[in-house]
Amino acid sequence: RVIMGIETSCDETGVGLVRLSENDAADATATGPRVELLADEVASSVELHARYGGVVPEVASRAHLEAMAPTARRALATAGLTLSDVDAIAVTAGPGLAGALLVGVAAAKAYAAALDVPLYGVNHLAGHVAVDTLEHGPLPRPCLALLVSGGHTQLLRVDDVASKITELGSTVDDAAGEAYDKVARIVGLPYPGGPPIDKAAREGDPEAIAFPRGMTGPRDAPFDFSFSGLKTAVARWIEAAERNGESIPVPDVCASFQEAVADVLTMKAVAAAREYGIGTMVISGGVAANSRLSALARERCEAAGIELRVPRPRLCTDNGAMIAALGAHVVAADLPASPLDFSGTPALPVSTVTVR
Ligand code: ATP
Ligand code: MG
Ligand code: FE
Repeated sequence: RVIMGIETSCDETGVGLVRLSENDAADATATGPRVELLADEVASSVELHARYGGVVPEVASRAHLEAMAPTARRALATAGLTLSDVDAIAVTAGPGLAGALLVGVAAAKAYAAALDVPLYGVNHLAGHVAVDTLEHGPLPRPCLALLVSGGHTQLLRVDDVASKITELGSTVDDAAGEAYDKVARIVGLPYPGGPPIDKAAREGDPEAIAFPRGMTGPRDAPFDFSFSGLKTAVARWIEAAERNGESIPVPDVCASFQEAVADVLTMKAVAAAREYGIGTMVISGGVAANSRLSALARERCEAAGIELRVPRPRLCTDNGAMIAALGAHVVAADLPASPLDFSGTPALPVSTVTVR
């Protein structure tokens, strides 16, 4: 069966197509279905938001509206399919921006109604985990997921990506990607801040400045994160240097900031895997593209005997293939379709994988 996935939760309009193998029933109960990627088309409005230093919801919604149909057409063309080949539609039902979700949900309902195929409103965060199956095959059960993006930072226990996900911890303030974006602005690098900080950090010394590791005190929740104190510490450090008339060593600041983020994320993720006796970790979301995060995660997972899976960067950032991949898992699990009258839910909890 062919499943089309539609993603419009933030600033990427994504349409993905995947094929679910049918002759895999035994495999499906053991480890999860085999899902093959057919197409993954993304139109991003990120440049439109760059001058504001963050996503402007109204601008994103309008861009989705313009990009929706052309992106779907491109995905079908890439896969060499037509709409009549689509057997089921999955769409991001949340979490995300209300107006942005609305565009994808409305389009998905229209396609599902016109084609008379089932519609699944699914969780964006679960999609970030499910996407890894397109690259590395079925996900072991359970696995641990570290989700790090511009809007989210969460540690998840994934017993079944189609139906059972538990949040172990999350950020209490800024998301990891948000911290990158804010620190980039502080040191004068462009938005989005992740890639330029990653690049600048390569020329810097990660031990030059001892920035704080948030939420690592004995009384702090073991699997929660905090990045706003780190961002403030960077701002203070720059202010002090400027007051003393010193020039700002941007590469050292970036490397030291990046080290603090990667250190806390990997330390807590490995601790959670140990605590729950989980042998596989998936890191996904835009920040998973960070070179230091993946290197440190690899080092620490290896030392702890944990298998690490990181999807390629293209699959880590928001896209439609991740929603199609999750839809394929929901279809393979024979779960009921969503009612045609559901709407986007901006704060959809990760425990709700499919809306009913
Ligand atoms: P959501 O939170 O809903 O997934 P999003 O659009 O913010 O939405 P992504 O597209 O997954 O999330 O990721 C974008 C974020 O990833 C930005 O904050 C960006 O700075 C960050 N990012 C991208 N590349 C890197 C990198 N190499 N290092 C660190 N951060 C990065
Ligand atoms: Mg984005
Ligand atoms: Fe996302």
